[in-house]
Amino acid sequence: MRTIKQATIIGGGLAGSEAAYQVARRGVPVRLYEMRPERSTPVHQTGWLAELVCSNSLKSEELSRGGGVLKAELRRLDSLVMRCADATRVPAGSALAVDRDRFAQRVTEELAALPEVTLIREEVTEIPPEGPVIVASGPLTSARLSDALAALVTAGFLHFYDAVSPIVETDSLDPERLFEASRYEHGEGAYLNCTLTEAEYDRFRKALIAARRVPLRDFEKKAFFEGCLPVEELAQRGRQTLAFGPLKPVGLVDPRTGERPFAVVQLRAENEEKTRYNLVGCQTRLLWSEQRKVFRLIPALREAEFVRYGVVHRNTYLNGPRVLSPTLQCRKRPDLLFAGQLTGVEGYVESTGSGLVAGINAACLARGLPCLQFPRETVLGALAQYVAAAETKDFQPMNANFGLLPPLATEGNRLKKKEKYEALAKRALDALDKFVEEELTG
Ligand SMILES: Cc1cc2nc3c(=O)[nH]c(=O)nc-3n(C[C@H](O)[C@H](O)[C@H](O)COP(=O)(O)OP(=O)(O)OC[C@H]3O[C@@H](n4cnc5c(N)ncnc54)[C@H](O)[C@@H]3O)c2cc1C
Repeated sequence: MRTIKQATIIGGGLAGSEAAYQVARRGVPVRLYEMRPERSTPVHQTGWLAELVCSNSLKSEELSRGGGVLKAELRRLDSLVMRCADATRVPAGSALAVDRDRFAQRVTEELAALPEVTLIREEVTEIPPEGPVIVASGPLTSARLSDALAALVTAGFLHFYDAVSPIVETDSLDPERLFEASRYEHGEGAYLNCTLTEAEYDRFRKALIAARRVPLRDFEKKAFFEGCLPVEELAQRGRQTLAFGPLKPVGLVDPRTGERPFAVVQLRAENEEKTRYNLVGCQTRLLWSEQRKVFRLIPALREAEFVRYGVVHRNTYLNGPRVLSPTLQCRKRPDLLFAGQLTGVEGYVESTGSGLVAGINAACLARGLPCLQFPRETVLGALAQYVAAAETKDFQPMNANFGLLPPLATEGNRLKKKEKYEALAKRALDALDKFVEEELTG
């Protein structure tokens, strides 16, 4: 009989928690190291596993979106993160949003209850020599572990910066200047929409541009990730950039006037009780004192109390194509796997997905079995393929999207966009079912 090795996972975020569950449910013992609450990162606020550091939205559920298909794939593979998200969801139209505290508590409690999992609250500073090991220490990997990783992968280590939105107290909002609705009346009215007239918009935009920002140090002067640009950077790009971007009023009618406002700042509930709301798309690196002044120019936020201000943060990730194989193993050291944002995927659900793939493969290694490569037709497989083999000089983190999937056979070209997405989603889920039956069952 083969002996089963113990797996080690570094980082109990979204990826590490999912990976630990996948390893454990295959009967393999696992040590999960999480440095919080002893040592924290610049943005985490609790000691819970799988804490959501910014938005409480896990984005679209629709199968016409790459992220929606990814969620469907994860549910079919018994994802712990998806199960806990479903159990703690809060209304958010066609998106999946969660009560962040209940979500993280639930993930922590479910993992703590598994006999295979040993949770160790300690910072790891060296990569353990005994595999299988999964490094899932995230975009804010501690400095000492970053150094150890940089030494291991040499030229394959990268950093960039993005930013977090402020959160306000519901009681401090002016109900006369907002209304509850989702765009195009999708789902129940899940957002609070703070209206701005043209003059109010111009004033807000000018103040955003003029406000003082946290200065960037020399080594930080890098491009922001386009998907997460600070609101003041967008304001600076042109008068209409915000009005056509995060502040766009499309699909919204103010019930008081029966008209579409000039612009809206949407607020999304942070918790089930709706006592806190975040400013959607308003991630920022303005000084905190400036944030209070500038965001209070939004009429509904005239007297807003800020529960949390926006912050700038570092993002650390590998140059995947130089370091990883599509099984998420390190090419240089195959008993070492990577998961989460560190691999070059971007987003909560994408990080969870790579944790699931790495967890399944760590369990294979622990049993002396070869690692599995997910089919390219699935979003999980396509993301793993992207981080391992993207043909790009300037490797950038990637969200789940249909552009990553291999094209449909020729008749696919004649399909309309909606039909094409439906066909791609069906092909992905069929490929996953076949993979589960042939590779994962038994
Ligand atoms: C500030 C910020 C805002 C973001 N906002 C969003 C968003 O709104 N929506 C979205 O989809 N994505 C967002 N992301 C991107 C990404 O989806 C999240 O960072 C996600 O949490 C990544 O999952 P992960 O498991 O890779 O890392 P994490 O969830 O950060 O987990 C890593 C864990 O490793 C621990 N750790 C680090 N170093 C060590 C060590 N040496 N020893 C032991 N433990 C260690 C950390 O404490 C942490 O718990 C954001 C990222 C950042 C940094």
